[in-house]
Amino acid sequence: MRSSPSRYAVIGNPVAHSRSPEIHASFAAQTGQALVYDRLLAPPDGFAAAVDAFRAAGGSGLNVTLPFKQQAHAYARRLTSRAAVAGAVNTLVFTGADVLGDNTDGPGLVADIRDRVGLDLGARDLLLLGAGGAARGVVQPLLEAGVSRLVVANRTPERARAMVDELRLRMDPGLRTRVSACALDAVGDGWDVVVNATAAGLSDAAPALPRRAWAGASLALDMVYGAAPTPFMRAARAAGCPRVEDGLGMLVGQAAESFALWRGVRPDVRPVYAMLRQRLAAPH
Ligand code: NAP
Repeated sequence: MRSSPSRYAVIGNPVAHSRSPEIHASFAAQTGQALVYDRLLAPPDGFAAAVDAFRAAGGSGLNVTLPFKQQAHAYARRLTSRAAVAGAVNTLVFTGADVLGDNTDGPGLVADIRDRVGLDLGARDLLLLGAGGAARGVVQPLLEAGVSRLVVANRTPERARAMVDELRLRMDPGLRTRVSACALDAVGDGWDVVVNATAAGLSDAAPALPRRAWAGASLALDMVYGAAPTPFMRAARAAGCPRVEDGLGMLVGQAAESFALWRGVRPDVRPVYAMLRQRLAAPH
């Protein structure tokens, strides 16, 4: 008798827009894994109850998106070190009574820059824009990938300072000295890589960055993705940045990390990235 497929889902509010079901269905087909992957809409005050019910029905794991990443951190019984430092969880693994929380956003971003973009982050200076959930998930993995100086700049500078202070408390001592915070208008020059982790693109805007910030930058990457270049990508191009990317590769990369954690098999991200890029360009 064949056992029923393992159940996974992405939980969020809203969640209808999520690309995760098609990504994980592609990974499952590619690797021959028997699983089903759904969307789970939870009410803003009903995260824990929705996760309890999903587990009681035999669910094996969840991806977690806005606004629940910090609640997922609190829900987990055990945390990977990167999730503990980030204070945010985007992947839950259920094994009996155990609940492991991980954050795969950072490893997904690092893998995308290394493997698809082809840039070695070792000894690079990196400017990270934004101080929300996405930014906090990627700081430690970027430092572990070899970034030598990372500055977090945010529209509300107090938020960037508070986030960096909090992350530094939980970080390996060897990494702490390489990260600091500042206001957007105080950003200097000398960056190799500029990563936009703000939600500005969702309202068709780019963070207000001084022009000097682009001098010498070799890569600009916006975590937001879409059919057309985002305002941040257009600003980077206009300032002469030679390589400009959106967040689609990071999205597929973080999903691959979650899949590997759940299934013990690492999917090939390249065909799935190509498929999504094509679907974004021609949605109908
Ligand atoms: P969030 O927690 O809501 O954070 C929002 C951040 O954006 C804050 O730092 C905010 O600054 C800043 N911001 C918003 N509008 C701005 C504007 N007009 N100018 C300058 N800064 C602005 O959101 P999040 O979870 O961190 O996500 C950020 C973005 O990353 C989202 O668009 C999300 O879709 C994307 N993301 C992509 C991936 C991927 O896999 N590609 C993964 C995670 C997230 P203040 O503090 O001043 O308000």
